[in-house]
Amino acid sequence: MKLTDLSVIRSLLGEEGTSFKKKYGQNFLTNESVVERIAASALPDVPDPEERLGILEIGPGIGVLTQKLAAVAHKVTAVEIDTTLLPILEKTLADCPNVHVVNNDIMKVDLPALVAEEFEGCTRLAVCANLPYYITTPILMTLLESKLPFSSITVMVQKEVAERLCAPAGSDAYGAITAVLCYYGEAKRLFTVSAGNFVPAPKVDSAVVQIKLHQSPPVEVADEERLFAVIKAAFGQRRKTLQNALTSLPGVSRQQIAAAIAEAGLSPTVRGEALGLEQFAKIADSVFSVQESTQ
Ligand code: SAM
Repeated sequence: MKLTDLSVIRSLLGEEGTSFKKKYGQNFLTNESVVERIAASALPDVPDPEERLGILEIGPGIGVLTQKLAAVAHKVTAVEIDTTLLPILEKTLADCPNVHVVNNDIMKVDLPALVAEEFEGCTRLAVCANLPYYITTPILMTLLESKLPFSSITVMVQKEVAERLCAPAGSDAYGAITAVLCYYGEAKRLFTVSAGNFVPAPKVDSAVVQIKLHQSPPVEVADEERLFAVIKAAFGQRRKTLQNALTSLPGVSRQQIAAAIAEAGLSPTVRGEALGLEQFAKIADSVFSVQESTQ
């Protein structure tokens, strides 16, 4: 059964009296070589035959990517929200004993518990998914903030989101999520997938992005939450100078902000979008230390 074949997809859904659900972002892949490329990207650069790779997939749909992942991984756990797809997955994954489908909303799952239960005995963990576009950012943030020991996260996202995730500091696409992501890992755009490779075809093209997670953050800060608050404030009012944008931070005076910007060796008129993670880290540490010492 070729799961990228349009007539196969329609008949599998039809047999279960279901169809594509827009509310769950269901755009299924119809190009075999794209599916193979995504699955191959989830593998480590230097595969080790001794390694037991556990892959978490989010949104298996009818199992097209799941089948390919099952062929390369020791274990695949696929979390699918749509209950009507379960009988289909039972059929399409019948020959994949190393796959376990979990019927749940990825945003409601207890991720650390799931990972501990599902991937016992695995020596390397990765995430691989064609993500539902309506919750791409929340899913990515949940995965990153979980600090679970995934070595990589390989995901298909909207092309514009891919550009944002991988944007260099100072570029138009660079945003708060780009800077926050740099704290957790390094994102790279792997390849573009045009809208015609899905059914139903989405309105925009997509791209596969891979985030290689850092073993430890590239910058040391006194308090991560403060770093993220500074980044969020800096981009919250993107057109303003950093000096003005940071006034939205609670309890921080203009004087403290000016001192922190000067201490980081930056111009008083610099905008937040010009700063890399290291500079944000310096500002976060000094703006709050100035604040604390003056209290
Ligand atoms: N993997 C399939 C493919 O590549 O053809 C389907 C990908 S489709 C873009 C997204 C999938 O995510 C759908 O199967 C959808 O039902 C599922 N999904 C949507 N929201 C979800 C959530 N909150 N938790 C888990 N799965 C979800």
